[in-house]
Amino acid sequence: MLYMSAAREDGRRKPAGVFYFHIQEPRAKMDKASGRVPLPEEPADPVPADPFLAEVEKEIRKQFRLKGRMVDDPETVEEIAGEFQKTSDVVNLTRSRDGGLRGDVMTEAEFEELEQAAAEKVVSLCADLAGGRIDIRPMKEGDWTACQYCDYQSVCRFDRSFRGCRYEEIDE
Ligand code: SF4
Repeated sequence: MLYMSAAREDGRRKPAGVFYFHIQEPRAKMDKASGRVPLPEEPADPVPADPFLAEVEKEIRKQFRLKGRMVDDPETVEEIAGEFQKTSDVVNLTRSRDGGLRGDVMTEAEFEELEQAAAEKVVSLCADLAGGRIDIRPMKEGDWTACQYCDYQSVCRFDRSFRGCRYEEIDE
């Protein structure tokens, strides 16, 4: 979001979306019993040359789906997500029968609110740092904590049995 704000500083650009892209070696989830991905009951139309390979490709594409938020504007959605009937392969978007979109979309106003909130957070973090407040407060949302994905657990001194060590709880 901060990169987006920096790119918009000259006032000539409008936001389209912000995304994470997971860099990874893709692996298709295989059905354990058969060693094959379960195929859909209804065959695709047109039938792919090799349904098994087509299914593997689909599984792999799913793993490269972008995660983030985009502005709910038809032109922007088409540019980013491409054409799709029900569910996009590119981003987390589902089209309902009435043509509405569900998933990682937000209005332009909501997007600007989020951008503003991110900017305010940076200002408050900088003020904390300048004031010597550097408590370790990893994020926690429900059962999820930032520590679960952290490569520094083995050297980290975060321990809730110590005073001052607590999670930053965020609303689900
Ligand atoms: S393990 Fe330590 S460094 Fe990593 S997220 Fe948790 S508190 Fe932060």
